[in-house]
Amino acid sequence: MDTPSPAWMDADLRLFQDSIRRLFEKEFAPHEEKWRKQQHADRDVWRRAGSLGLLCVSIPEAYGGGGGNFAHEAIVASEQARAMVHGFSNNVHSAILAHYILNYGTQDQKRRWLPRMATGELVGAIAMSEPGAGSDLKSVRTTAMRDGGDYVLNGSKTFITNGLHADLICVVAKTDPSAGARGVSLLMVETRDLPGFRRGRLLEKLGQKSQDTAELFFDGARVPAGNLLGGEEGRGFGQLMQQLPRERLLIAVGAAATMRRAIDETVAYAGSREVFGQPLMALQNTRFKLAECETVATVAARFVDDCIARQLAGTLDLPTAAMAKWWVTQMNCQVIDECLQLHGGYGYMLEYPIARMYADARVGKIYGGSNEIMKEIIARGMAA
Ligand SMILES: Cc1cc2nc3c(=O)[nH]c(=O)nc-3n(C[C@H](O)[C@H](O)[C@H](O)COP(=O)(O)OP(=O)(O)OC[C@H]3O[C@@H](n4cnc5c(N)ncnc54)[C@H](O)[C@@H]3O)c2cc1C
Repeated sequence: MDTPSPAWMDADLRLFQDSIRRLFEKEFAPHEEKWRKQQHADRDVWRRAGSLGLLCVSIPEAYGGGGGNFAHEAIVASEQARAMVHGFSNNVHSAILAHYILNYGTQDQKRRWLPRMATGELVGAIAMSEPGAGSDLKSVRTTAMRDGGDYVLNGSKTFITNGLHADLICVVAKTDPSAGARGVSLLMVETRDLPGFRRGRLLEKLGQKSQDTAELFFDGARVPAGNLLGGEEGRGFGQLMQQLPRERLLIAVGAAATMRRAIDETVAYAGSREVFGQPLMALQNTRFKLAECETVATVAARFVDDCIARQLAGTLDLPTAAMAKWWVTQMNCQVIDECLQLHGGYGYMLEYPIARMYADARVGKIYGGSNEIMKEIIARGMAA
């Protein structure tokens, strides 16, 4: 079905979208099967993505980026989701970490890290979650205590996306363990040859199997004080909170694109599969189910487009981003489940995209702040 162009899309962005779609389909999607088997992409995928202009698209050219804005970022996220390329989390690297550096980094930090992130020389990750602290970030136990010209980092992190390849990790740590949220700081850790830093297991996941998700350990790792993001202690919690609407919207952007693909796959399947001497698509149940899915996907896409327009205008607030994140990821799982059912037994076979989508989509309700936390945020905004 033809989808109308959103108001934020212009002719240049449409061309950009076409070229990004081709890149993901030709350059990356064919490698996914191998990456899924080994549970991570090959390291050189980052250099390749950098050389093709896929990294840091919304970082100014002065720092080596593409010079675009959130519209470019949303297009890349959407096309990557549509192509089902999970092997490298460009969202974490370009759309999230690079923007932490751009927004809070000192001039020296921006110059030091952003150009190398744009080429793929450095791979970025964000380490907030710990074995004992996920939703409740204030209770992280990792500490970064000042000692001379360094911070000494101790603690462990888990579920870290890009964790296997990451060379530059933004670690959420307490610089003052007695000060609650005001004691949280963001420390940028350059991991190459860093004594006291160790990667743990590559975690075996239900879906998104080509993406490296790892445990990280810091045992007295010494990080230069100049790597404290923004150069001032105790700012970390506020910095995290300010960036969350954009991160959550990007999760919704990916979920909306996945829903679209799930329906397109299912319409094609239902058109070719014969049951009781007629195409599956001819059955009223199939038509009604797909009509329901199409309606949900259309409403989701329009809401996401509205949020993108608000983000571009600088007016996207925390509750609205939370609505987009929980609702679109929830609908994505529901739509995919209906589509899988219409595939019958083939829908359960991993060689069919719909089966992988079913497994890949589930985490959308958990990461980036769980959907229960999203509802807390929305309800907080409603309180009299
Ligand atoms: C594939 C994957 C990739 C990830 N990537 C990263 C990453 O790159 N960096 C990173 O730092 N983290 C990452 N995470 C971690 C993710 O952000 C956390 O899993 C998530 O925030 C939930 O935290 P938790 O797992 O500790 O669950 P918990 O916080 O223990 O929550 C357990 C359950 O309790 C519910 N709950 C908790 N608090 C409340 C409340 N106040 N009210 C109602 N319900 C509540 C939750 O919704 C959930 O259902 C990733 C996770 C996965 C699975």
